[in-house]
This record gives sequence, C-alpha cells and structure tokens, in this order.
Amino acid sequence: MKNLVWHPHKVTRKDREKIKNQKSCVLWFTGLSGSGKSTIANEVENQLNNMGFHTYLLDGDNIRHGLNKDLGFSDSDRKENIRRISEVSKLFVDSGLITLTAFISPFREDRQQARDIIGEDFIEVFIDTPFEECAKRDPKGLYKKALNGEIKNFTGLDSPYEPPINPEIHIKTLECNVEECAKRIIEFLKEKGYVNV
Ligand code: ADP
Repeated sequence: MKNLVWHPHKVTRKDREKIKNQKSCVLWFTGLSGSGKSTIANEVENQLNNMGFHTYLLDGDNIRHGLNKDLGFSDSDRKENIRRISEVSKLFVDSGLITLTAFISPFREDRQQARDIIGEDFIEVFIDTPFEECAKRDPKGLYKKALNGEIKNFTGLDSPYEPPINPEIHIKTLECNVEECAKRIIEFLKEKGYVNV
C-alpha cells in the first residue's frame, strides 16, 4: 500500500519462541456449533498451560462481543469474521504463542484463506460430530431455536458446513471423550516439535 513501510524489528518470532521454549502455531478448530470446539480447545489449552507452555485461545462468541461485534451471520460477515481472526492469529504466531481458534468457520475457501494468511504453522483441527448429535447436545439451546425457525442462517440447517478434505487432525468426538480428544492433539504438537516434553 502507498506510503506504508514495513518496519523490521530487532526482536523476532524466533527470539520470542526461544524464551517460551516452544514453536508457535495456530490450532484452527472447525466444526458445527456444539460439535465440541470450545470444550476441546479449552482442555488442550489447559493441558499445555499445566505443562508450562504459553497459549492463547480465541473463542467464537468472545470475539463477537468485541473485535467483531459489528458482524452478523450473513455469508459476507462470516467471511470477514474469519479474515480478521486469521490476521489476529498471524500476529499471535509472530508473538510466539501456541494459538487456538474455535470458530465454526464453515467455508473451505475461508479456511484456505486463513491457511494462506498464517502460513506453514496452520494446523486444521476438524471436530467431527454429526449434526444429529450436535442437535442432541445443544449446549446453548441454539438447535432448538433454529429448528423452530427462530434463527436464520444456522450452519448445518439453512447455511452450509463444508467439512475439511485433508485436515492435519481429524477428531471424531463420538469415538473419544474430551480428555482423549485433547491428548491426541497434544501428541500431534509433540510429534511435530511444537512442544518438547
Ligand atoms: P462448539 O464450541 O463446537 O460450539 P461446545 O464445546 O460449546 O461446542 O459444546 C460441545 C458440547 O458437547 C459440550 O456440552 C460438551 O460437554 C459436549 N461433549 C460431549 N462429548 C464430547 C466430546 N467427546 N468432545 C467435546 N465435547 C463433548
């Protein structure tokens, strides 16, 4: 952009990672509402924190209360929601943090954009829970409302969810409890050298 100059800084991502004794990344959780993104991301963050790693969890509803409170649930607002979160995540990765994001992020194109913005340390985590199970769990009472026609553009009902084709991590929550799901994600981070324990 015109008249904008990128400033090189003395302290780099590598320096920040070194102090934290970790390699930064984004664990990008995607899945239907009520699939378990927040619950599992919370558990992963808690376990990493207990191990002494430095994390930050960006969570759907919380971001919509602040940074993205001007956005609704139309296709274009959902896209902008994800774009801003991707840019924030990129900054967090640069700050050396293991970043977790828990957003439905239903569109493949938007997740690809997130991957492009964030780069090689983007880790897509598909929280795979069938619609019927999410509707049964209904932790926020949203499915009941949506099925009664009280919510428009509800993902999985009258707004599409495009499942990841080749996610780095695929979690089927009907096959493991919350602790086991979180453990699998931490194992991935260990295997790939993001954390050393
Ligand atoms: P999301 O963030 O995807 O909207 P939440 O994490 O808010 O979903 O809600 C998921 C609900 O499913 C919670 O009430 C959680 O206790 C329940 N649940 C049951 N089994 C699991 C599991 N194996 N993994 C994650 N959540 C589960």
